[in-house]
Amino acid sequence: MIDLHNLTIVKARKSLDSGEFTAVELAQTYLDSIKEKNGEIFAYLEVFDDVLEQAKRADEMIKSGKIRTMTGIPVAIKDNMLIEGKESTSASKILKGHIGTYDATVIAKLKSDGAVFLGRTNMDEFAMGSSTETSAYGKTKNPRDTARVPGGSSGGSAAAVASDMALAALGSDTGGSIRQPAAFCGIVGMKPSYGAVSRFGLMAMASSLDQIGPFTKTVEDAELVFEAIRGCDPMDSTTIPENIVPKISAGKKIKIGIPRDFLSMKGLDPRVLENFEETIKKLEGKGYEIIDVSLPYMKYSLATYYIIMPAEVSSNLARFDGIRFGLSVQGSDVSDSYKKTRAQGFGEEVRRRILLGAYVLSAGYADAYYRNALKARKLIRKDFERIFKEVDLIATPTTPSPAFKLGEKMNDPLQMYLADIFTVPANMAELPAISVPCGTVNEEGKELPLGLHLIAPYFDEDVMFKTGRDIS
Ligand code: GLN
Repeated sequence: MIDLHNLTIVKARKSLDSGEFTAVELAQTYLDSIKEKNGEIFAYLEVFDDVLEQAKRADEMIKSGKIRTMTGIPVAIKDNMLIEGKESTSASKILKGHIGTYDATVIAKLKSDGAVFLGRTNMDEFAMGSSTETSAYGKTKNPRDTARVPGGSSGGSAAAVASDMALAALGSDTGGSIRQPAAFCGIVGMKPSYGAVSRFGLMAMASSLDQIGPFTKTVEDAELVFEAIRGCDPMDSTTIPENIVPKISAGKKIKIGIPRDFLSMKGLDPRVLENFEETIKKLEGKGYEIIDVSLPYMKYSLATYYIIMPAEVSSNLARFDGIRFGLSVQGSDVSDSYKKTRAQGFGEEVRRRILLGAYVLSAGYADAYYRNALKARKLIRKDFERIFKEVDLIATPTTPSPAFKLGEKMNDPLQMYLADIFTVPANMAELPAISVPCGTVNEEGKELPLGLHLIAPYFDEDVMFKTGRDIS
């Protein structure tokens, strides 16, 4: 019997290569675990029917010595990344039955490395949400307390890894959708620098903010998955060749900046702050230098995000017109068909954001909202550029509270949006960031996980991984 609970990619790699277990045995153990738990947790929308065949191919690769880091490693994929021949819906009714006609670049990379795709995971519809409750297909539960949300929008991927239904998973992060669910579920979640990982084959939410990244149980594993999926891609012109940005962190004592003014926000759970201070003390004890810093524009990130993101959403989702993809509802003419298809196919949160986006881009308002938001975004970015001349990392809690209850924030979108207050700034400034588990708080007899959030300079993922390893 393989002990999934204590398994990591690093350990699985050794066991697969030494023949202690095969990829088929490992995949079967995960399938058994999914069978046992997915009914309750609902991390997966679909478990693929060719998992064992994929694992067999991985075993052949291992036997022939063609071993890559991810060969035979069972992974779960968020339902907004295309896999050729598999359904992919972004957890939306409008794409029910939509089959991918090609592989996303991240999928192609993992496939050629021999990774085993277990299935596609639940998410907020088109990645819009912080709780996975806006999925058109049902709610995912937090494995640490099934009365609570797993976070979102990549809640299914986080829950799959946290409940040993996958060894690693991919999610996408536009404003926090990898890091926030990772924190809520007690695992590691990482958002790469914008342009480090190809978005080709990822269904776009807000193209200037979206990045694909890993969920894993350890920081070391996150680094391995990141290395496997990163790289410049001719199919995504926003990807950057990794060697053009010099590494600045080699060998020196790492300085961590704490944005104190930002931490005094109201709505921050005092237990979260206490846990944060303790974690920072631990890092200090390990030789890190801790400095209070001021990032005066950081507090405008969320407001700015809720202008730029919906603007991009409204334009990206215009392609779902009932003619080219998925659901098609016949109307009296073309325009009526568009309206009927979109009204029936999209859920409430998606419609809210499309309307908001169309509004901030409309003639007469674009200058007041959209263009001003772009200016604010530039100031936020400059704030970070300035501060990264003084420090190597910025640390905050990942979320202002531990996981909340299912249904608790569904009728209060503004409260829901606040869950991303600490994660959104990294997307606005295109910076890499990671959430690392750093303890729990006890609530109603359950240990609810918390995350430490580290933001690093552009393309300096290394310093973040190194520090993350010192926390876990
Ligand atoms: N929760 C945020 C939102 O709803 C972030 C979503 C994401 O990162 N995909 O916009």
